[in-house]
Amino acid sequence: MQVDNPLVTQAFASNKLNRSAGDKRDPAFVSVALRTPLLLFVNGAAVCVREAESKTALFWASPRDLERLGLGIYQDQISSQAGSASAAISPYLLGQDSGKWKFALDVTGHDTTIDRIQAAGYAFQELRPLMDKLPASDLATGGQAVALSQWHRNHSFCPRCGAPMQPVEAGAKRACTENARHREYPRTDAVAIMLIESEDGQSALLGRSKSIRNKGILTCLSGFIEQGESIEEAVRREVLEEAGLPVSSVVILGSQPWPIGRGGSCELMIGCIAKAAATELHPDMDEMDDVRWIPKNVIKQVVHASSQPDHPYMGGKGELPSEIDFWIPPPFAIAHHLIKTWAGQTSSPWFAKL
Ligand SMILES: [Zn+2]
Repeated sequence: MQVDNPLVTQAFASNKLNRSAGDKRDPAFVSVALRTPLLLFVNGAAVCVREAESKTALFWASPRDLERLGLGIYQDQISSQAGSASAAISPYLLGQDSGKWKFALDVTGHDTTIDRIQAAGYAFQELRPLMDKLPASDLATGGQAVALSQWHRNHSFCPRCGAPMQPVEAGAKRACTENARHREYPRTDAVAIMLIESEDGQSALLGRSKSIRNKGILTCLSGFIEQGESIEEAVRREVLEEAGLPVSSVVILGSQPWPIGRGGSCELMIGCIAKAAATELHPDMDEMDDVRWIPKNVIKQVVHASSQPDHPYMGGKGELPSEIDFWIPPPFAIAHHLIKTWAGQTSSPWFAKL
């Protein structure tokens, strides 16, 4: 059954860059980075932003900015290695915006550079605290840069022969320095995240795994999709493992990129709504802190409270109605939108024709 994707306001979606433009296989392509703005970042995690009054945006350093900040050294290095096998410092192509190429450049370890940039009024910040500050497209582009950088940092050596690897095709891949046929591609780990509707359609199953640090949260169950497993099979397995509950129908609603995943990984959250095939729960309490059926009228109240900007997960001091003892994640998360979407329906259109 086809349902319109209601998951429209999540963090890390809405990247404006055109990723399909350009022939990245041209060895000279990286020299394009000499003439175009660069997004600087450090440690595979923090991007350079400009904060002006209440407005925060990514800082794209133009060639003139690099000169002004005394960073012409990067242009010299990029220029000398364009088209060669050397990759002492590598700009990674992100895409094209309004005809302009956009690259990211990792300046980790270049402490003088970092000091100069910060002294000029810019800041290196991690993306999580920027989720409610950056414009949606900036956050998505920053996420792309961070994920790509993390992948490069974590793949220094060839997994097939152990030789060093280097970035090729403007950072789109890595190639082995001993055998050019040994190539690695940036990877994304698929995660299924699911709201489970009760048999009578009046309650939803929410829970909290022990890995969630915020003990005031209940959210959708989720888990990595295993090799050789379909999304639907992963939903059924995870719900059975975590809640001891069999699931019948599974409907995929949409997805959210999550480039700040566990251990520096880039994840793709695949959002599903599924129908329970029983009511009784047998949760795995080694893995879960809490698993409960929550009535729809309670879910509606907690969705309203958790949509507010003073959500405690975002550092606010919001309060819940007195009879409710949990929050759901704020609107940056796909879980929020799965729960909100389900609570906003008087019936269950996803299962009506199944
Ligand atoms: Zn190799």
